[in-house]
Amino acid sequence: MSSADCLFCKIVAGELPAEIIYESESVIAFRDINAKAPTHALIIPRQHIATINDIGEGDEATVGHLYMAAKAIAAEEGLADDGYRVVMNCNEAAGQTVFHIHLHLLGGRTMGWPPWPPG
Ligand code: AMP
Ligand code: ZN
Repeated sequence: MSSADCLFCKIVAGELPAEIIYESESVIAFRDINAKAPTHALIIPRQHIATINDIGEGDEATVGHLYMAAKAIAAEEGLADDGYRVVMNCNEAAGQTVFHIHLHLLGGRTMGWPPWPPG
C-alpha cells in the first residue's frame, strides 16, 4: 500500500531523488536532507504506515527489519562501537513532520540526554 501524496512513498517508488544507502525487500534507508549529525539516515518501510499508531498486526517483521537495517548501517558507517541513536517520532508533539514512519539513525557525534533543552 502506498499513499499518492506521501513524500517517502515517492522515494520508495523512485519518483523523488534520495541518497539511498541500504535496501532490502521490506526496507530502504537514505540520508536525511537536513542532517543533524555526521551520519543521519532515515530508515523506512517500503510499505506506507503513517505513524507508530498505525502499525498493525502483521507488521511486526517489517518494523523489526527497520532495526536490522539500523544495525547494519551503523556497522557500515563505523558507529557500532562508539554508539549511535535511533529514534522514531510519533505525531506532532514529538516533532513528526513526514507521516510515513521512519527511524532516524544519528551518529558520529556525542548526543545529550534527555533530547530537549533543560528548563
Ligand atoms: P520527522 O520530523 O521525525 O518526521 O523527520 C522527518 C525528516 O525527514 C527530517 O529530518 C527531514 O529533514 C527529512 N526529510 C524531509 N524530506 C526529505 C527528503 N526529500 N529526503 C531526505 N530527508 C528528508
Ligand atoms: Zn508513504
